[in-house]
Amino acid sequence: MERWDAIVVGAGPAGCAAAYDLATAGRAVLLLDRAEFPRHKACAGGLTRKSLRALRYSVAPVVRETVSAIVVEKRRGQSATLASRNAVCAMTVRQELDQYCLEQTLEAGAEFARAGPIAGLGRDGDDVVVKAAEVNYRARFVVGADGVHSRVRQLVYGDGPGWFRRGFALEAEVRTADGNAPDLVFDLAPVRRGYGWVFPKRDHMNVGLYTESGDEKLDRPRLVAYIGERFGEVRVGQITGQYLGFGAEHAPPAKESIFLVGDAGGFADPLTGEGIYGAIASGQAAAAAIEGELGGGSSAQRAFAELTAQLRQDLLLSASGARWFYGNPELGYRALTAPVFRGAVINAYANGTKIAALANAIRRFARVFATTAQAEM
Ligand SMILES: Cc1cc2nc3c(=O)[nH]c(=O)nc-3n(C[C@H](O)[C@H](O)[C@H](O)COP(=O)(O)OP(=O)(O)OC[C@H]3O[C@@H](n4cnc5c(N)ncnc54)[C@H](O)[C@@H]3O)c2cc1C
Repeated sequence: MERWDAIVVGAGPAGCAAAYDLATAGRAVLLLDRAEFPRHKACAGGLTRKSLRALRYSVAPVVRETVSAIVVEKRRGQSATLASRNAVCAMTVRQELDQYCLEQTLEAGAEFARAGPIAGLGRDGDDVVVKAAEVNYRARFVVGADGVHSRVRQLVYGDGPGWFRRGFALEAEVRTADGNAPDLVFDLAPVRRGYGWVFPKRDHMNVGLYTESGDEKLDRPRLVAYIGERFGEVRVGQITGQYLGFGAEHAPPAKESIFLVGDAGGFADPLTGEGIYGAIASGQAAAAAIEGELGGGSSAQRAFAELTAQLRQDLLLSASGARWFYGNPELGYRALTAPVFRGAVINAYANGTKIAALANAIRRFARVFATTAQAEM
């Protein structure tokens, strides 16, 4: 059995981010995925400024469009435009983005193998053995980057560990007679604890519905009805949906030498529904932690906890921001679009750095606003 420094299960944004950094550091890394690439992934493909900065290479060849303004709608006819001087979000098609990132990762020196179902994870001394259908793979470290239904997470923590939560989103490609909508829209009207979105992709739009709540039912008829209401008679492509993984803020950082990253580890943001940034950042953190221990430094498990501490703190605040925001949509909308906050909101969304702190500032502002409004009545 060939021995690897690290096996990364899953070649989405999280897995490619981890494998790219390990390969660049000269480590022997095997990337396993059950899918043949290019493959479809239910996703709107929006890369915020912080995701673009986090990536080790430019993804310009697969960017369809860049936007520098966001329209937030409360209901038809009530909306606010949040504009930035710089690009806020780059629009990609996930199939193209993931294929491109995989190519960069293989060029950096990682190897790729199509994996059959993973039957188990075993130990052999300090190594982990990944038992796949017909082959066993052996490595010093394993990174579970296999998405929201992670088999690695299931094998390590069992079904539905207490810290793991899920949101849900579904999307479709939509083509109108004139091709495209000019703006990126977040529409708070159609979903109780979430939003509808329109992402422009030059020759088409990606339209979808998101909820951070496990209780809200989103399905195809609901998305078709939303698209019809918004655009009338249009061509709607294949509708696909998937869960998003939340809860990294409460997760144990790693189990011995097995790390969970991206949706598998609950690194998606429940407030915004953004998961690519958390996937890249957690994948890179796992790679740095592994590289540190392989290079003779401190324990990878401890390093991963330290390297993801800020990210997990932000997710904790985002989770409480999401509970408040989606629980108080009227106040949330007014606070979010208050002229005093607009610049900060759009930049926080794009850059990520202060989004959780901003969510809490907005919450405080809204409380004061509500009290003042009551006192004036
Ligand atoms: C409809 C929708 C729209 C979204 N829009 C956005 C957006 O615009 N911007 C944003 O930032 N986030 C968005 N997200 C969230 C984002 O898609 C995810 O958070 C992100 O893809 C997580 O990346 P990942 O690498 O962890 O997992 P994934 O992208 O899911 O990749 C996991 C990989 O693991 C492979 N795999 C799975 N199981 C196994 C197995 N047993 N063995 C081997 N391989 C396996 C899969 O084939 C896949 O290639 C959206 C999500 C949804 C559902």
